[in-house]
Amino acid sequence: MCTQNNFTQLKLPSSMIQTLQTLGYSSMTPIQEKSLPYILDGKDIIAKAKTGSGKTAAFGIGVLNKLNIKKFRIQSMILCPTRELAAQVAQELRKIARFEHNIKILTLSGGVPYHPQVHSLSHQAHIIVGTPGRILKHLNEYNFDPKDITSLVLDEADRMLDMGFSEDIQKIISYLPQKRQTLLFSATYPLNIAHLSDDILTNPQVVEVESTHQKSIIKQEFYKIPDHQKLKSLEKILGNTQANSTVIFCNTKIACDTLADDLWDAGISTLVLHSDLDQKERNETIIMFANKSYPILIATDVAARGLDIKDIDLVINYDLPYDNEVYIHRIGRTARAGATGQAISLITQEEQFEDLKEYLDEDEFIQKDIDQLEERKFNIKSTYSTLFINGGKKSKVRAGDILGALTAGIGLDKDDIGKIDILDLCSFVAVKKEFEQKALDGLSNGKIKGRYFKVYLK
Ligand code: ADP
Ligand code: MG
Repeated sequence: MCTQNNFTQLKLPSSMIQTLQTLGYSSMTPIQEKSLPYILDGKDIIAKAKTGSGKTAAFGIGVLNKLNIKKFRIQSMILCPTRELAAQVAQELRKIARFEHNIKILTLSGGVPYHPQVHSLSHQAHIIVGTPGRILKHLNEYNFDPKDITSLVLDEADRMLDMGFSEDIQKIISYLPQKRQTLLFSATYPLNIAHLSDDILTNPQVVEVESTHQKSIIKQEFYKIPDHQKLKSLEKILGNTQANSTVIFCNTKIACDTLADDLWDAGISTLVLHSDLDQKERNETIIMFANKSYPILIATDVAARGLDIKDIDLVINYDLPYDNEVYIHRIGRTARAGATGQAISLITQEEQFEDLKEYLDEDEFIQKDIDQLEERKFNIKSTYSTLFINGGKKSKVRAGDILGALTAGIGLDKDDIGKIDILDLCSFVAVKKEFEQKALDGLSNGKIKGRYFKVYLK
């Protein structure tokens, strides 16, 4: 998906270009190539691009480049539709921010305790990333001074409006300095976005990227089946695709839970992600899916919005979404950043399918017959198990410490250890299944960074 163009043609500090290189960003994605020249020039923009196109780095580079780092005041506000997305944006920004020391990025999302955020705000930050409701609450209670804000980003603006954040966004903006740069990102451009843009942007430059590259790399298939055959058909599809990493979408929380139970009865264990889970459970679920401790995640749209997990091979629409844009959004969970992916949808209602077919191009998808598939059992076992460690950033535990304890301390090979996630108060490490007991015993009985921690198998 990347062109020959290089970040070096932009006016960026060489330390930032080097950091991008380290992250594997050797060339700009099309949306970055089109938007960055304007962003770096201080212009307001409306950027329309599909999911997975690298929008975060586009505004992230702009926002970071604009910071006056020595001035330890909030200079940039980034609004996202969900906590998960805010967390991911902050994570991506922190990666790029490594080009300079001491850039402080704070997340302010709902669903997590409020007072620690107030406390963190009293210690200042350069950039805040969060959901509109919570940020507005902080503004209403004067927990931070917005007067030094010079850039505002609305990420996935269409989703924010869909979720009813329009009024909150307007109120937030009424607190901000008029003289500022505003960057609006949206996968779609419905009328309400146009109205919002009129209100809050000044002479915006509109940049748009065709989604052709995305279309061609996701193989889309549809199976028309009677409603009562959904579960059997799904099992057949899973057995025939044998994907290492699958996300299955259902339209409701109940449907997710029911499907998880049904698959469990069929001998397939899955993770479930929906908004009935508390924030801690949602974080853990995403971590355990991303670190390959489970091959299947069943999710609703709300919970999966913006989810950027690498290497999702297959997206299945167990329920077809009611909205065509949501369909595009869902299948965009696979084939991130140029990888190939597959999307399979079960069709039980002809009408809904007709509508979607009209929306897609003829050559983008194929319709297949479920009876043509052989009966095969899904037999993918996850590679890793997740160990929970009750120490994280606050106890100064770092990934290197855990890696060291597992290799030098316990004698595991580096290749037997997967993803390590360090949160504030706890950490998660993926180890190859066959070594889970050894790792558990070793970490429970030995020290990490000179201390004993409670460790258990998730
Ligand atoms: P979007 O917000 O458009 O849905 P993201 O910003 O989440 O997309 O980016 C999708 C993925 O692409 C991320 O994993 C990100 O790290 C990666 N990415 C972004 N820019 C580049 C680049 N220039 N080269 C390679 N990968 C990139
Ligand atoms: Mg994004």
